[in-house]
Amino acid sequence: ALPPPHGFSVQCYSETLEAQQRHRLHVQQALRGATERGEMSLAFQPKLRLVDQRITGAEALLRWHHPELGQISPGMFIPLAEASGDIFAIGEWVLEEAMRTIADWRQQGVLGDNFHIAVNVAARQLARKDFAEGLLCQLAARRIPARFLAIEVTESGLMSDMQNARQQLAQLTQANIAVAIDDFGTGHSSLAYIKTLPFSTLKIDRAFVMDLEECDVDRQLARTITQLAHSVGCNVVAEGIETAPQAMYLRRIGCETAQGYYFSRPLPANEFTHWCDNWHPHLPSTTTETV
Ligand code: C2E
Ligand code: MG
Ligand code: MG
Ligand code: MG
Repeated sequence: ALPPPHGFSVQCYSETLEAQQRHRLHVQQALRGATERGEMSLAFQPKLRLVDQRITGAEALLRWHHPELGQISPGMFIPLAEASGDIFAIGEWVLEEAMRTIADWRQQGVLGDNFHIAVNVAARQLARKDFAEGLLCQLAARRIPARFLAIEVTESGLMSDMQNARQQLAQLTQANIAVAIDDFGTGHSSLAYIKTLPFSTLKIDRAFVMDLEECDVDRQLARTITQLAHSVGCNVVAEGIETAPQAMYLRRIGCETAQGYYFSRPLPANEFTHWCDNWHPHLPSTTTETV
């Protein structure tokens, strides 16, 4: 077939680009006040210790359902919220909701003593001088021991004030809050973080997990990242595990904790507790390992 005339393809391209920009603008406007209107909720994805597949915690992931726009993924709206500054109000809401859930689950006896809820925190939130203090006050007001909460530092842009971020995170780790560097090895989550930020956990990005079975380079990278984390005294979590062989390979290289659709998708709070009640370890033992 002949390629489309030049003018035609350019016009199509600019139309889709324009539509995309219109959609982004629409989303950005809809985002303001979304928490107050009750459009946001949290989903919880279990984290499991690979040696015995015991549930050690859950990551809280933001869900947004807009009455007209429908379900919008955080991968799309979080960067917009970071750019507009709405991330501060949204981040506050996420922390409050996570703490409310911790209190609930402790009361119901769902939350064992070694269980935590991890909340994603954008780099921009850490730029605030009173972030850690505010968070610790909220915990104290609710009488929640700090160890029940964990933080995952995510970011879509460059961290502008590493020194302040370091101070904020140091305050949190001193209070016994586990700090993870999220999506390690991709985008802006770089080696400079390891050098500067106080953290206890490194999260291997899904990008290194998804092709473990086919790709020897990815296996070496996952192994090297795990060794790197251990060499600086940190734990490793792998995200995005979708198959048993992936989980088994990560277990073999010493990665402590696993998370992914293979175990469970992120679930609403009530479904999560139900899932925990019915959870039985099912990962095959090492003798049948294939990767
Ligand atoms: P993240 O923190 O790296 O979270 C992991 C993402 O991978 C989640 O996407 C999760 O649903 C997805 N995931 C988990 N297991 C699997 C799997 O086995 N396969 C595949 N394909 N995906 C899996 P989600 O919920 O769409 O969140 C995307 C990103 O948005 C998060 O990446 C995080 O950076 C950001 N985000 C989510 N909630 C919040 C929040 O409350 N605050 C901030 N600042 N960022 C958030
Ligand atoms: Mg995360
Ligand atoms: Mg991640
Ligand atoms: Mg990720």
